Amino acid sequence: MSGHSVYIGIGSNVGNKIDNCIKGIDEIGKIKGSKIIFVSSFYKTEPISNINQDWFINCVVKIETDLTPYFLLSDLQDIEKRLGRKRHIKNGPRTIDLDILLYDNLIVNEDRLKIPHPEIHKRRFVLEPLAEIDENLIHPIIKKSISLLLNKVGKEQKVEPLWNWIKPDILLLKVQ
Ligand code: ADP
Ligand code: MG
Repeated sequence: MSGHSVYIGIGSNVGNKIDNCIKGIDEIGKIKGSKIIFVSSFYKTEPISNINQDWFINCVVKIETDLTPYFLLSDLQDIEKRLGRKRHIKNGPRTIDLDILLYDNLIVNEDRLKIPHPEIHKRRFVLEPLAEIDENLIHPIIKKSISLLLNKVGKEQKVEPLWNWIKPDILLLKVQ
């Protein structure tokens, strides 16, 4: 395994949200040539769009993978489909959303794939779990640390860790 470090953002606001995220993480753990290194806490977060919709559960998973970004994206989209995700309106309700946030220091800027994910620095629900995993990570375009970006993002976005959430055994087994 050549071991690219990749951070994947997970979100759900339809159905059993916690269960959807756990299933998503479990499926990520099965992606070939990849292993889970760290799973952040789960956070209850307020939708950022104007669409009237339920709150979200969000978390971030760090993996090491030897997949290229496009093969990884394709596997993540297969998982979204398997877990019952329908194509949806942008920023609207979704059973599961799996986004590639960072892939080493790589910069990709195409319609099908943008890395770093273009909204990282604007979203507390991404920055909080990312900082939990590694607050010293440097955003490859903005060239600032995640902790600095977190300090700058608006506090009005409500993001609350689920302190009572205990990582199930199935995840602990996969996390170093
Ligand atoms: P969003 O997450 O923006 O609400 P979707 O999950 O439906 O919307 O993604 C729409 C498209 O975004 C996908 O078809 C995918 O090709 C593209 N995309 C671009 N960059 C990324 C990325 N970093 N991670 C995941 N999908 C991405
Ligand atoms: Mg997405």
